[in-house]
Amino acid sequence: MPRIVEVLILGTSAGIPTEGRGLPAILVRDWYGLHLLLDAGEGVQTKLARHRVPVTRIDIIAVTHPHGDHINGLPGLIQSMYMMNRRRPLTVYGNSEVASFLRETLEVEYLDLGFPINIVQIDGDGEAILWESGGDKATLSWTNACHTVESYAFAVTWTLRPRINKRLLVETGLTDPVLIKTLLSEGEVETSRGRVILDEVASTASTRTTLVYTGDTSPCRSISMLARGARLLIHDSSFASEHAEDSHERGHSTSLDAAILARDSGVSLLVLTHISARYRGGEALRLLREARTIFPNSILAWDGMRIILNV
Ligand SMILES: [Zn+2]
Repeated sequence: MPRIVEVLILGTSAGIPTEGRGLPAILVRDWYGLHLLLDAGEGVQTKLARHRVPVTRIDIIAVTHPHGDHINGLPGLIQSMYMMNRRRPLTVYGNSEVASFLRETLEVEYLDLGFPINIVQIDGDGEAILWESGGDKATLSWTNACHTVESYAFAVTWTLRPRINKRLLVETGLTDPVLIKTLLSEGEVETSRGRVILDEVASTASTRTTLVYTGDTSPCRSISMLARGARLLIHDSSFASEHAEDSHERGHSTSLDAAILARDSGVSLLVLTHISARYRGGEALRLLREARTIFPNSILAWDGMRIILNV
């Protein structure tokens, strides 16, 4: 099975939506069936509908911080899940304020949902397993961003176990499926003909693929650590460098800041997002040109951009 991750960037504006850019939301889907939404800005439902993604498919939502442009789409999304008779549980990751926003909204709207919402309150660095199967797994991890309020950056990481080379396996004489399963999960197994080590019968080593989404942040050391070696970094790039001081005061980054962090963290691809409404249409290309002077492998996000990762 091809192991494909699709990153669908639904909204790329900062603070205020424009005719070309909606508010922050990113859908991450993978071959295993994961449907994870990073932030839920207002208008997220319309964006999902445009891309024919049923809201009921989303099982996990991770909210970076409780500023309106990142969270105001959440109540509507949950309302639609209710209208569509969702039964499966929904998991929401967010800090204590995100959790109380959600609880209070549900209370005010008298919503008897008919499906459980599992609110995972995050505080400091942490990690959760999104799915696990036969030694492969996807995890969500988070760290503090540098914003005007408590805010988090998220990383999604796919870790794949080594793949077995059938010819090498045959040579060991190991055929019992139960023992092969043990070999995959434990990394070694004892057989009647001796010990078999996974690394010695593998055609590929274990691999890790990470994407990082910063949410709102000024240049931030903890994000640099989180993004180390990441395949994809989706970074706040609200302004051009001439507004650096103002940008940092407001807890945001310039495109140069994003490029420097991408270069220093050794990421493969930088995506500039959270574009201020002052850059209309092609004016936003200024941000891209600036970033590329530091980090050539930069692209400028637009609403509906799809990025495919082969894991
Ligand atoms: Zn914010």
